[in-house]
Amino acid sequence: MSDPWENLLETARNVHLSDSRLQEFCPFPNDIKKQEFQPFYVPASDLMQNEIGLFSDSYTDLRDAFIVASPYAHWRQTYKGTALGDKFLEKFGCYGLIGPESPFQSKGIRAWVVYMPKNFYYPWHQHPAEEMYLCLAGEAVFRKEDCPEVILNSGGVMEHSTNQPHAMETLDHPIMAYVVWRNEFGTKPVLTYEDAR
Ligand code: FE
Repeated sequence: MSDPWENLLETARNVHLSDSRLQEFCPFPNDIKKQEFQPFYVPASDLMQNEIGLFSDSYTDLRDAFIVASPYAHWRQTYKGTALGDKFLEKFGCYGLIGPESPFQSKGIRAWVVYMPKNFYYPWHQHPAEEMYLCLAGEAVFRKEDCPEVILNSGGVMEHSTNQPHAMETLDHPIMAYVVWRNEFGTKPVLTYEDAR
């Protein structure tokens, strides 16, 4: 079997290079290097691998590549120790493709996958980095400060500016998204409200 990370990187590169919205937001970098990292398991890994609701129009290759690599990933615990409880921590899935604790590094970009099961709420949060979501499969309601809410499904993108509060909610379907950051990589996301609304 080919290396799931090389396959995933190649598949993500193809999607990213062929999407003008992603390319304009941050061009896919040409300084990517492989790096060592330790896998880390969270229960959302199993949820994503067993998920049956991730319908997709044009992104089945990247969706499947993220699933194939997921048992070997370092799943993140970004919100451990915050106001978010076990229900969130066990069901929110996120692992890096390019960045810290990820199979690849680059100076110009961070890239990862986000998975949320159906009926899931990701409270208002923010970060200095600018961010773009590309919905690969499923759908979710995306909210950001000072903007009307949007339902994003396969092929839809959402951009978040520096420290702009944003939140997501899944209803009858799960979602998988390819997410990239540019600028200000050093600061982790924080919840906008202490009561995690
Ligand atoms: Fe964000």
